[in-house]
Amino acid sequence: MILAIDGPAGAGKSTVAKLVASRLGLTFLDTGAMYRAVTLEALRLGLDPADGAACARVAASLKLEFDAQGKLHLDGRPGEPALRSPEVTRAVSQVSAHAAVRELIVAQQQRIAASSRGVVAEGRDTTTVVFPRADHKFFLTASSHERARRRALELGTPQALEQIRADIEERDRKDSTRAVSPLVKARDAHEILTDGKSAEDVAQQLLAIVSGQAREGAR
Ligand code: C5P
Repeated sequence: MILAIDGPAGAGKSTVAKLVASRLGLTFLDTGAMYRAVTLEALRLGLDPADGAACARVAASLKLEFDAQGKLHLDGRPGEPALRSPEVTRAVSQVSAHAAVRELIVAQQQRIAASSRGVVAEGRDTTTVVFPRADHKFFLTASSHERARRRALELGTPQALEQIRADIEERDRKDSTRAVSPLVKARDAHEILTDGKSAEDVAQQLLAIVSGQAREGAR
């Protein structure tokens, strides 16, 4: 079984995906963490995030493995918390826009799904490119104000709300306008607006759709 959840930064995808994965006993697949890992390693090596060939070499050589908690390890080292640093967050949209990087990372994501009994994948292109035939597709969104508010809470920096909102809007713009696999809502995805809803509410909404569709399919 494959559930794919796309949407912009801060829409609550990863919290919701984790909840849904644990309720259904499926593997949580954080596709953004893999682009963050390539970015972290490229920055560590002093490479230019705009250099597609150099970033692709990093993507090809870096060993990426998720542990049982869904946390990513890079060449055997834990990626957290460096994967979420402001430097990585600022450069990741540039790195993830390279077609050669995406090709390598998407192939790894498809291999992970093929070797597990099912995944809940979240990202920008999981409903359109990585798993176009997913059993269930969702597009989670929220206003940029709400998304910035959540991120500021997560980071423990409520004073930086306006800066975070500007960064989120800039990342949305880059992710939605890139030439390769831009963030778009798949035609067959359920769109869920998460403003004012808790992650638990949204997870319940997804689970109800999944079980409703499963019943319809069984008729
Ligand atoms: O979801 P997260 O904020 O960790 O994603 C970081 C970045 O990785 C996104 O802004 C986007 O540039 C890239 N990404 C992507 N495709 C995905 C997941 C993330 O291009 N499936």
